[in-house]
Amino acid sequence: MTGMPDRLNRCVDCGKPIKPPSQRCRVHAAAAARRVMEWLRESGERRLQTAGEVETAILRLGLRLATEFASPVDARPRAAFFRVNEDTVIPVIELSGGKWVRGRSFPLAEHPDFAEIVATGKPRANVVRSRPLGPKVREIAARAGVSAGAGVPIARGGSLQWILAIGLRGRELPDELFRTLIDLGQLLEFALADSAAWGSMRDPSRPTI
Ligand SMILES: [Zn+2]
Repeated sequence: MTGMPDRLNRCVDCGKPIKPPSQRCRVHAAAAARRVMEWLRESGERRLQTAGEVETAILRLGLRLATEFASPVDARPRAAFFRVNEDTVIPVIELSGGKWVRGRSFPLAEHPDFAEIVATGKPRANVVRSRPLGPKVREIAARAGVSAGAGVPIARGGSLQWILAIGLRGRELPDELFRTLIDLGQLLEFALADSAAWGSMRDPSRPTI
């Protein structure tokens, strides 16, 4: 199993030393999050009015980017956001082979690495084969053809809200891809933290229904 890259990082934009797993200092991560919102608005996401619509658009964009980053390793990667409710892991939104699919819930105890992400708040990679999975998770992974992967925690208000997960065929998820996913997770975390504020910025030219 691979944990976080165990070295001092520097902000990719300004070179300021930062703790792993971050790739950017807070200033530049926030700037990156604003870029996410600009991409959303430019990519035709014009219906974004409520905080919920903004949040869903950010989650969908996150999965599109995660699968794009993973596509050199696996042409048909699987990416999902999960929520953890008490002891149950619930898929919120899932992208598989370029299609939005509905995933299944499973007990947190059946997925030791997700349990560790919840306990530590730290990302993990190469989760699928590294430890025994419970029967339901094993069946889900087998059916999806997933044999390697990573999970990145996404917090809001200081507590874990989502796990960004990517599943691949093959033996392992490369470290470079893992670092990219951690970076993406941080960017999404900032964007999602701001989504309520973005959602309240309504276009005054639109009629109110
Ligand atoms: Zn910086």
